[in-house]
Amino acid sequence: MGDQQDMNGIEELHWQLGLLQTLDVGLLVVDRQYNVQLWNSFMANHSGVPASDIQQHNLMAVFKELPAGWLRRKLDAVFMLKNPSYISWEQRPFLFEFKSHRPITGRASFMYQNVSLIPLTSPNGDVNHVGILIYDVTDVAMTRLQLQAANAKLKDLSREDRLTGLFNRGYWEECLDHEFSRYQRTQVKSCLVMLDIDHFKAINDTYGHPAGDEVIRHLSNLLASLARKTDVVGRYGGEEFAVVLMDTDSVNAEIYCERVRRAAESIEVEAGDAKISFTVSLGVSELQAETGSPAQWITQADQALYHAKQHGRNRFSVYGLGDN
Ligand code: GH3
Ligand code: MG
Ligand code: MG
Repeated sequence: MGDQQDMNGIEELHWQLGLLQTLDVGLLVVDRQYNVQLWNSFMANHSGVPASDIQQHNLMAVFKELPAGWLRRKLDAVFMLKNPSYISWEQRPFLFEFKSHRPITGRASFMYQNVSLIPLTSPNGDVNHVGILIYDVTDVAMTRLQLQAANAKLKDLSREDRLTGLFNRGYWEECLDHEFSRYQRTQVKSCLVMLDIDHFKAINDTYGHPAGDEVIRHLSNLLASLARKTDVVGRYGGEEFAVVLMDTDSVNAEIYCERVRRAAESIEVEAGDAKISFTVSLGVSELQAETGSPAQWITQADQALYHAKQHGRNRFSVYGLGDN
């Protein structure tokens, strides 16, 4: 009777081990010295290390690229607390560096993994072994990452002006509000520059609308190239642009305006056989404690721009200086 029970027990163990071998999940068991006691075929196939080469060997000694200190701490906590522990791919993309074999996930070069550390209790209640389960979550991770990338792209697109790639008016205004609030806290100076192409109607009328678009694009590239990383360059309207110059007082804003004015003047845009030259006018307003709102800041820059137009174009004007 007892023999029969033992036989049944061994048979059961045999097919259970067989199941573990065919499982599409990595399974290994380590003892308190981190020596490997079980290594299923998933682990053997993906690592290229057969069970016979690693059983009774120290896991970190065989896999030198493992984050040994981190893994030891994790395992020790499971031994001590007798509670399972989970590591998601978002915390650590993988534990074992396995190649990804899934053609559908094309772009993933390695296998993303979720890892579970399970305390294995012996009949007397001691935990002397921990089971490590490795789940291949490459598909899930790739889908999530692609979605995140698509969302980031969408966000960029919703901020971007289609013709020029500069910030569109909506997003630019958000940035302006943000800068206005920042000033209330820090009192660090910044300047707003409004810019408008001179006699642009004439350019459209003479060379056609597509050539006009090309002029707008050239000017946009110029503005982007002359701006610093922290500056906020936007297309405000048709051929009007707005730039927030961070940490910049009006003296330095004047230097910026003059640089833009000159560079614009020297651009030649090809339209068929013709070469289009153009000029711009600019208005500057420095943010001051008295500036009541972002809208007022814009109005002041606009007034300065109007002043520059009135006084001959191809020039800049600063709000509060002279007669504007
Ligand atoms: P000013 O020197 O006073 O600025 O004269 P202006 O002719 O440039 O006058 P205004 O700024 O009022 O004219 C803007 C013109 O720009 C009117 C519109 O037909 C044209 N425009 C607006 N958006 C676009 C665009 O996206 N592409 C092209 N090609 N033209 C545009
Ligand atoms: Mg205009
Ligand atoms: Mg104009």
